[in-house]
Amino acid sequence: MPDTSATITIGDYTITTFSDGIFTTSVDLMIGADKETIQRISGKKLDEPVKLSVNAFLVEGRGVRALVDAGTSDTLGPDMGFLPENLRKAGKPPESITHVLLTHIHPDHSNGLIDSTGAPSFPNAEVVVQEDEIKFWVDRDLSQGANDRVRWNMGNAKKAFAPYAKQITRIGDGEFMPGIIAMKSPGHTPGHTCWTIEGGGKSLMIWGDTVHMSFLQLERPECAWGYDFDPAMSVRSRIAVLDQVSADATRIAGMHLDFPGFGFIKKRAGRYFIEEE
Ligand SMILES: [Zn+2]
Repeated sequence: MPDTSATITIGDYTITTFSDGIFTTSVDLMIGADKETIQRISGKKLDEPVKLSVNAFLVEGRGVRALVDAGTSDTLGPDMGFLPENLRKAGKPPESITHVLLTHIHPDHSNGLIDSTGAPSFPNAEVVVQEDEIKFWVDRDLSQGANDRVRWNMGNAKKAFAPYAKQITRIGDGEFMPGIIAMKSPGHTPGHTCWTIEGGGKSLMIWGDTVHMSFLQLERPECAWGYDFDPAMSVRSRIAVLDQVSADATRIAGMHLDFPGFGFIKKRAGRYFIEEE
């Protein structure tokens, strides 16, 4: 299990990837093209196990140590849940985290707010979350969840946020702190958010789950994750982000891009490519 990787510097901040582990899924979950096309473009059979990295990014500088996303804790099996241990190994223990900046509330991004006993994994952190996101997953009554999967996620989210009651900051779009900017990019979830780090003429967008499977969704951005809250909206948001970061040469960091998850997006002849670092 990798623990840390090369660190990227943007202005006053350094950004380092930390692995929570590996998530196994399959292209069968993808929608937006026929199954034949999905298999051909991805080069993977429908039922073939696909291993996706689960990354979190540590942003350090200007007196903050902010973690973008919180991992899974013990909720998604033995291949994940390594984030706290990997932070500790790097000399950046969970207790030293000042902020958790969430891209969205989903098991592989927010369940790690608490440990297996229900205690906060990042007891000294301010948890920063998009307003529409927390309203959807945490504020609503469980009975308002549309199906069992949504209700399971809501239950986990309520548990994960409970010990942080006095440490939650709800945000909209805009600069959260100097050089750290939130941009709502909805569809995968109602308040899915990309975090951009800017400084010294450079920028890095930590794009959360804008892309789950780069080997399919860059060539076919109209392919969506079957569990997206609103697949059509997620497609529009994905294309908008891909256009933006390819046009202005913003470096990107992805939660499910192969560890360490940094790269640049290029657009040629209407298609997108990634140059991973
Ligand atoms: Zn995810």
